[in-house]
Amino acid sequence: MTKIDSKIPEGSLAEKWTKYRSSVSLVNPANKRNLEIVVVGSGLAGASAAASLAELGYKVKVFCFQDSPRRAHSIAAQGGINAAKNYQNDGDSVHRLFYDTIKGGDYRSREANVHRLAEVSSGIIDQCVAQGVPFAREYGGLLSNRSFGGTQVQRTFYAAGQTGQQLLLGAYSALQRQVGMGNIELFTRHEMLDVVMIDGKARGIIARDLVSGNLERHFGHAVLLCTGGYGNVFYLSTNAMGSNVTAAWKAHKKGAFFANPCYTQIHPTCIPVSGDHQSKLTLMSESLRNDGRIWVPKKENDTRKANLIPEDERDYYLERRYPAFGNLVPRDIASRAAKERCDAGFGVGTSKMAVYLDYAAAIIRYGKGEANKRNMHHPSDEEIQLMGKEVVKEKYGNLFDMYKQITGEDPYDVPMRIYPAVHYTMGGLWVDYNLMTSIPGLYALGEANFSDHGANRLGASALMQGLADGYFVIPYTIGAYLASEISNKATSTDSADFVAAEKAVSDKINLLMNIKGSKPVDYFHKKLGLIMWDKCGMARSEKGLKEAIADIQALQKEFWSDVRIPGEANNFNPELEKAGRVADFLELGELMCVDALDRNESCGGHFREEYQTEDGEALRDDVNYAYVAAWEYQGASKYQLHKEELKYENIKIAQRSYK
Ligand SMILES: Cc1cc2nc3c(=O)[nH]c(=O)nc-3n(C[C@H](O)[C@H](O)[C@H](O)COP(=O)(O)OP(=O)(O)OC[C@H]3O[C@@H](n4cnc5c(N)ncnc54)[C@H](O)[C@@H]3O)c2cc1C
Repeated sequence: MTKIDSKIPEGSLAEKWTKYRSSVSLVNPANKRNLEIVVVGSGLAGASAAASLAELGYKVKVFCFQDSPRRAHSIAAQGGINAAKNYQNDGDSVHRLFYDTIKGGDYRSREANVHRLAEVSSGIIDQCVAQGVPFAREYGGLLSNRSFGGTQVQRTFYAAGQTGQQLLLGAYSALQRQVGMGNIELFTRHEMLDVVMIDGKARGIIARDLVSGNLERHFGHAVLLCTGGYGNVFYLSTNAMGSNVTAAWKAHKKGAFFANPCYTQIHPTCIPVSGDHQSKLTLMSESLRNDGRIWVPKKENDTRKANLIPEDERDYYLERRYPAFGNLVPRDIASRAAKERCDAGFGVGTSKMAVYLDYAAAIIRYGKGEANKRNMHHPSDEEIQLMGKEVVKEKYGNLFDMYKQITGEDPYDVPMRIYPAVHYTMGGLWVDYNLMTSIPGLYALGEANFSDHGANRLGASALMQGLADGYFVIPYTIGAYLASEISNKATSTDSADFVAAEKAVSDKINLLMNIKGSKPVDYFHKKLGLIMWDKCGMARSEKGLKEAIADIQALQKEFWSDVRIPGEANNFNPELEKAGRVADFLELGELMCVDALDRNESCGGHFREEYQTEDGEALRDDVNYAYVAAWEYQGASKYQLHKEELKYENIKIAQRSYK
């Protein structure tokens, strides 16, 4: 019998959430004051959840490993956040956002969750505007929108190229308000290292104070993991250096299923790798594909400078292959198309592993528009260029500056060189409709869970999902669980279960410290990253995945016998922090390959070379693989697969086409 119960409410798709909200159990205000909730993570998902739950009256503790919640990786988000407001009057609706998301995810996400996400999307924008988030506005005052991949409407709200930062400042203000009111206790520079289980339920966490090195025990009637994604398993990614899987992985080892671990998003527009000294890759926001055109030379191995290649010798391959969506095809498709051109010998730059993202046409178009506005009937080319660049600067200036600082080239004058890079993980802890994992009382929100994006996330939908989870979903769904917890008093953290959980964490730390090997942590992380990129990256095959599993297992052995961690356990020790995270990445990497090997189809970001159409597109197998793969940990290198069948009752499942 399957152990999966997704708890999707009965009723028609459009009514499920409304009915659920009106009938879910409530906790009265007096009881809320006696219920404690641990929130791990202070990014958009964690900060919004913590603020909302504290506002409702629960006692909340928030943990993050940075020195301030404002440094959560969410701050890096550039391009925007989706919502079905239809401000543009271009045909958007809740249903269209729902449909685009399901299709964009290559029909591998849960209908009910995605519909709920689309329904609450408008409220997120209202909430953030009320907080003072400075979204870009049109001249007349309405909020402005732009397009992201996989859609034909403009529904992306943005604050220049700093949307995540502005949204996080909003959520952080809401969080700090509750800290000020005494409803939230904030623990910065604390890393959660295990979930404490009592009688089969999550009842708290063990955290390490990263400054003193001390271990601490914290009780919660419920625990929320809002700990972000695990793209750094690849070592090189666009994620913040600290992003890691430890919290989710520890929960997995305590019984939380890990869903679709192999679904990784490789973003098409990143600054290419420039050498093996790098520890981080930089995203150039997808918003740049609104106006930028992507091309490579038509001639193989063309060494001419971009500006010297005439128009008719350029291959705008996305516009050629996908005329309906052009440069705004979803990320998985754009990334594979770039790889295909580079592998075929048409790449540009010294490494030949890059394509051009070109603003020349947009600058002229905007320049001419400005000339019209200013009643200039015969503007010179220079004037058009100047005015066009001003418009582009207004829209994307900080991204252009960033590109120039990193590459030394001025993208206003020469096309940017871009190549795909690891960016986001659609996989994560399996959650039911309530966002509860398979451990009672343990929830996962934001990028840490698997929900909503299927096998490929559409741009600007992660911020939407994180804030939907935190502001609008968990405040309701947690009641379904906590209503039955009101008679349970807080457990003492001196109880045997807490003591044993802390001891297990302490033993693990000592084990790491006592290896006293010869190789630094980064040596192992880089090696793992290379295996993952080569064999479980943009293209995967049965042979490669089997090799990867063997390679990773060998690397795990080497790590546990030869890693060198300087310093002490009971002190500030960033190398120890990294070692713990890499140890978990080493196990997760193996599971990702196991999952990718098991899924004998291609879908979204999971591209198995054996399963492709004649045009090189992902070839799904809906008969055998229309399920969420939820893996249960059963000891080292042992995993049991549980399948959550995906039913599409409101959408016709079809071969994805963006032509
Ligand atoms: C460069 C970049 C640009 C992006 N741009 C966009 C965009 O324009 N639009 C969009 O929709 N999406 C974008 N994304 C994706 C989006 O930013 C993320 O998916 C989203 O912000 C994740 O939010 P989160 O709250 O789930 O996690 P995060 O913001 O990653 O927060 C994780 C939190 O968990 C804490 N934490 C983690 N582990 C532990 C632990 N063990 N103990 C204690 N605390 C822990 C951290 O301290 C942090 O507070 C972008 C991603 C990148 C990399």
